[in-house]
Amino acid sequence: MTGPTDVFIDNQWLPGADGEFDVVDPATAELIRAVSNGGVADATAAVDAAAAALPTWRTLAPRERAEILRRTFELMIRDRDELGALIAAENGKSLSDAVGEVTYSAEFFRWFAEEAVRMGGDYGSSPAGGTRTVVTHHPVGVAALVTPWNFPAAMAARKIAPALAAGCTVVLKPASETPLTAFAIARLLVEAGVPAGVVNVVPSRSASRIVGTWMADPRVRKISFTGSTGIGQVLLKQAADRVINSSMELGGNAPFVVTDDADIDAAVAGAMIAKFRGGGQACTAANRLYVHVDVAEEFTAKLGAKVAALTVGPAEQGSDIGPLITAKAVDQTHALLAGAIAAGARIAHQAPVPEDSKGFYFPPTVLVDVPADAEIVHEEIFGPIAPIVTWTTDDEVIAMANDTEMGLAAYVFAGELQRAMRLGEAIEAGMVGINRGLVSDPAAPFGGMKQSGIGREGARVGMEEFMETQYLSVDWPV
Ligand code: NAP
Repeated sequence: MTGPTDVFIDNQWLPGADGEFDVVDPATAELIRAVSNGGVADATAAVDAAAAALPTWRTLAPRERAEILRRTFELMIRDRDELGALIAAENGKSLSDAVGEVTYSAEFFRWFAEEAVRMGGDYGSSPAGGTRTVVTHHPVGVAALVTPWNFPAAMAARKIAPALAAGCTVVLKPASETPLTAFAIARLLVEAGVPAGVVNVVPSRSASRIVGTWMADPRVRKISFTGSTGIGQVLLKQAADRVINSSMELGGNAPFVVTDDADIDAAVAGAMIAKFRGGGQACTAANRLYVHVDVAEEFTAKLGAKVAALTVGPAEQGSDIGPLITAKAVDQTHALLAGAIAAGARIAHQAPVPEDSKGFYFPPTVLVDVPADAEIVHEEIFGPIAPIVTWTTDDEVIAMANDTEMGLAAYVFAGELQRAMRLGEAIEAGMVGINRGLVSDPAAPFGGMKQSGIGREGARVGMEEFMETQYLSVDWPV
């Protein structure tokens, strides 16, 4: 990987205040690059730059903001393979997953380039007469963005693009496992013409100090966070102190429902995407597979054959599945598996992992005989284990699907569309894939119910998250 790896403030690359930290390749456990470790002084300098750039950026013609976003889309597509290789290197996901992520990320820049020029308002009169109401939308101000490692490009793009389209300036703290992709996006934004101070990136191993500094700074008016529910709760408490506008994209625990009249081959193909994309390290990952008892044997056999055939290894070898993000994640996933087996579950199918590798590999696994109350069904696995639970009535599977505090994604495979939609509407999840294993779409409102989050990203509403609504109540004598 080439290019600067420093703190990025005011379109300049500067050494971090707190030395450096290492970014490691999870496929080998070896160092990729040491990068600057931002400190509190950098966090404040980033807000200084974002606040100084705000008045000009927010009043720039929407078309000009849109052109910069559109150019960023084009540059990401130009560099798709290079960016994909970078994501694969620092995150470990397969090259096809990584390149797919770049395309998905670029689409947010294109989508919000188009939305930037379409922000309308409203005009009306009050029921009592005598006034005219003019509703307008304004950028909320400097926005703090905090992103996780599992989609290092997409999570940044899904926040930067709508924020800039809305007229906000931003300070970004990428996950410390994957800051390199954020640097690459910053470089492309500069090449696309983003003015100094509009986008600032502070990598750091001291997330709480960086983000805490932003949450306490009166110039920061927005927090947009993607990550675990636990950290989201911490940030919501901090946001309460200053009543900061908050968008939270948090953890998931997606149910994957297969009915007795489902097309089993389609359900298996959907499960391979919903469960194993990115090695199961997606917030939308199918966490628990609820398969009707009449089709469970066929589904398990067909899914098992595909899982056992998965190649696990480094991205550059063209593997289907890469390593998990850290050695700690491997240990946690083994602990969940051991707990499930102790509760009565059985490994039905498994793929081999590379021998003699220092990489953080975990074998893709299909688990059967999983009790409905097993810990693995209630915890976010974030690894390539597919626990299968059987059911008999629709009411029973709806109750099982909703027996969680999470409500991000869900999947339903059913032969009769109305049955699929009835089940989908009954499941408490912000996004439901009907007969498909992928819900992500820049044009759709991505987000969760319950403890999976507040707010939505993508679609028109993704830009509204970065705007305040104002109305002018105009005296209108009759
Ligand atoms: P995480 O531990 O919550 O970290 C997310 C980000 O928060 C990282 O940049 C992290 O920095 C930072 N952070 C950690 N502690 C913080 C603190 N005290 N104050 C402020 N920031 C802090 O989550 P993760 O392990 O990276 O990501 C996995 C989780 O994200 C899963 O639960 C997954 O479901 C969720 N996720 C949700 C969505 C969605 O759209 N709903 C999408 C993707 C992932 P460091 O890296 O430096 O620790």
